[in-house]
Amino acid sequence: MKLLKFKGGIHPHDHKELSKSSQIMPVPPPEFVYVPLSQHTGAPSKPIVEKKAQVKKGTRLSEPVGFVSVPVHSPVSGTVMGIVPYYHPLGKKMDAIKIKVEGDEIEEGIGEERDYSNMKKEEMIEAIKMAGIVGLGGAAFPTHVKLSPPPDKPIDTVIINGAECEPYLTSDYRLMIERPDDIIKGTEIIRRILNPKRVVIGIEDNKPDAIQILREKTDGTGIEVVSLPARYPQGSEKHLIYAITGRKVPAGGLPFDVGCYVQNVGTAIAIYEALRFGKPLYERVVTITGGVNKPGNFLVPIGTPASHLIEQAGGVKGEVGKIIFGGPMMGLAQITDAVPVIKGTSGILIQLKNEVHIEDVYPCIRCSSCVDVCPMGLIPNMIGKLVNAGKYEMAEEMGLMFCIECGCCAYVCPSKRPLVHTFKMGKREVLKRRKK
Ligand code: SF4
Ligand code: SF4
Repeated sequence: MKLLKFKGGIHPHDHKELSKSSQIMPVPPPEFVYVPLSQHTGAPSKPIVEKKAQVKKGTRLSEPVGFVSVPVHSPVSGTVMGIVPYYHPLGKKMDAIKIKVEGDEIEEGIGEERDYSNMKKEEMIEAIKMAGIVGLGGAAFPTHVKLSPPPDKPIDTVIINGAECEPYLTSDYRLMIERPDDIIKGTEIIRRILNPKRVVIGIEDNKPDAIQILREKTDGTGIEVVSLPARYPQGSEKHLIYAITGRKVPAGGLPFDVGCYVQNVGTAIAIYEALRFGKPLYERVVTITGGVNKPGNFLVPIGTPASHLIEQAGGVKGEVGKIIFGGPMMGLAQITDAVPVIKGTSGILIQLKNEVHIEDVYPCIRCSSCVDVCPMGLIPNMIGKLVNAGKYEMAEEMGLMFCIECGCCAYVCPSKRPLVHTFKMGKREVLKRRKK
């Protein structure tokens, strides 16, 4: 099969060697967990538990509000202490259910094997919704919505995303090594729901062992495993679709506009666990890496503060410079280690003080390096200039809203211009003006 190379992109050092050999280890729960009511794209869920309620692992804590919304579930057994404004990885305080951990009970029925072979498509989608499943690659878009494309947009290609192109992160890699059968079972469920002509698992060629295992395991299933050239941001939905199908998602469009559905490998496992064991999404695999003594991959109860995970990873090797949720390219820097893991947290990267440099910013020298690497074909220097001048409409016309915030432009800029920060600010302003 001929793969297509997208224009632009970069080859940052991947630093995956720090954690790639570390087997996924369960993390004991902290004293308190903080489960935000909003962990997904769409409307926050509405709480259905009150202060002092006794909950178990897997108890549903909230209900979805509307179609693009999912519930959250308790990751521990214990007592609800209340609904409190608490730190959120998105950078502001949001309502979270605070639970004091007591005991280790699991909600009735969770874990018991069930036969889902006769379930109707609609029943499977509803079960996935009520299990609170969202895309675990970072965007946290509700999975049941993706599995319900409009009737005039049939899906002919399902792509399971095992690219994991973001430097440092290895949680998807470990899942492919340790749980290939469950990825395939989840993929088969997606295949049953969407009935595509083609199913592909895409993995970057810097993970040859994962490619080999999945090729062996999918032999005879009709699922293809393709090796993609390692180049950031290969794992972005649009670039993955282009590499595998040659189709271009139109500006402002979604994968279903070109007959594609993309889902991360971890999400495929969550789908399988929901249908086979009735297990809601209350824990996930997180890579903790960078300046910690024991970088690794951990199975973490959702709502666990980063400080607890850093302890599990042997503590910080020096003075903390930055705590980043996600990887260095697209991750979000945090103001405190109290911030909890949410469904979209694939990794936590600790940068030490001596690794964090406050760079002097110089004027743009119009070298066009940012233009050369932009995988969306944008002109980042021009868009940045327009945003800085408050010319938001013109920035929009130049494609501001199509920026995927991959950071390639800022990575290569010799003048150290904070381009991504500028685009995020610009996008916020455009959205604000659209609401007026
Ligand atoms: S951050 Fe936006 S403008 Fe910069 S390279 Fe990525 S897509 Fe292009
Ligand atoms: S890479 Fe930096 S200096 Fe070069 S054109 Fe882009 S913004 Fe200007």
